[in-house]
Amino acid sequence: MSQQLKFKGTALFNGRQLLPGSMVLVLSDKGIVQDIVHESVAGDDVQQLNGLLSPGFINTHCHLELSHMGGIVPEGTGLPAFLTSVMEKRGQQDVLAQEAAMQQAATAMWESGISAVGDICNGTATLAFKKDSPLYYHSFIECMGFVPGFAQQRYEYSLDILRQFRELNGPGHSCSIVPHAPYSVSEALFSLLSATPDNMPISIHNQECEAENSLYQDKTGAFLDFYKHFNMDASAFTPSGTNSLPAWLPWFRQLPVILVHNTYTTEQDIAYTRELAPRAYWCLCPQANLYIENRIPDIGLLRSQGCTITLGTDSLASNHQLSIWQEIQTIRRHYSNIALEEILQWATLNGAMALGIEGKYGSFEKGRQPGVTLIDEKESRRIL
Ligand SMILES: [Zn+2]
Repeated sequence: MSQQLKFKGTALFNGRQLLPGSMVLVLSDKGIVQDIVHESVAGDDVQQLNGLLSPGFINTHCHLELSHMGGIVPEGTGLPAFLTSVMEKRGQQDVLAQEAAMQQAATAMWESGISAVGDICNGTATLAFKKDSPLYYHSFIECMGFVPGFAQQRYEYSLDILRQFRELNGPGHSCSIVPHAPYSVSEALFSLLSATPDNMPISIHNQECEAENSLYQDKTGAFLDFYKHFNMDASAFTPSGTNSLPAWLPWFRQLPVILVHNTYTTEQDIAYTRELAPRAYWCLCPQANLYIENRIPDIGLLRSQGCTITLGTDSLASNHQLSIWQEIQTIRRHYSNIALEEILQWATLNGAMALGIEGKYGSFEKGRQPGVTLIDEKESRRIL
């Protein structure tokens, strides 16, 4: 019989519940969960660890492609100015330096106990190192284009990238083609994206700033200057007279949709989403929101409306590290009333469900192989 691994911490989070420190996690030597048993029947060779044991974290929103942009974009400018800065500065370093930064960021995520990542891709820069990565990746091939006349061309461009990522598909990789954001995708492009067969989950930056809602309400706000700055013709856009979310969500009804940020989402938007897209996931990246907008979403509202919440780190352009544990700590500083047990489920099982990988990741159910993360107040680290 192959050797078993047995771990015991100060507490054990199984993906849904926090169990006492007297419970022992039993795994095969390959890290497949065999059981959770009381220490009195666990036998010999139990490794006692100083910290809380959790299944590996799931980071449902990241941009590894922007890993070379740490400290480059100023903080607190608001989203339109942030995007302008990223678009103007993202190509300024040479390719080798960009590759080294991505590798380093991916390794740091793995070592901090993240097991799977939903990673936004605008190109093929991450393709090479995703081939042999211990991390599971879902690559979201992000498509954008606000001028309807170029929709087909932009779609074809991203489809070509998607085809290259599809060659990596297997147990450690999956991919889909997705819209960037409501202010950067025309109706014609939304239509093309929604008609893509076998394409899920969808991911989209949602209501990250007030200006996105203003654009859809009455075609006012900071995005008009943004379009002008980049010589983008916004004349074909007709405002819906609603917030942004109800205007585009019908394109993806019934599909799993990961809504990222939700900083300016209202109770009405949530009620609408519940009706139209019951498989919606609400991904929070609080540190990026603080970095860009100096505000975090109304997490109390999302909880009270029964939203399924997941966590993401966004990129090093808008965050000082890609650590799910640091995102959790930030949420706890702002919402001390939310139990750690609940937030840990956002960081593990909910994220795995959002990426469709809960059969392997996100919990310590028997037969799963989610990785094991050890957490103390200061940091999280992978032990398996
Ligand atoms: Zn993002």
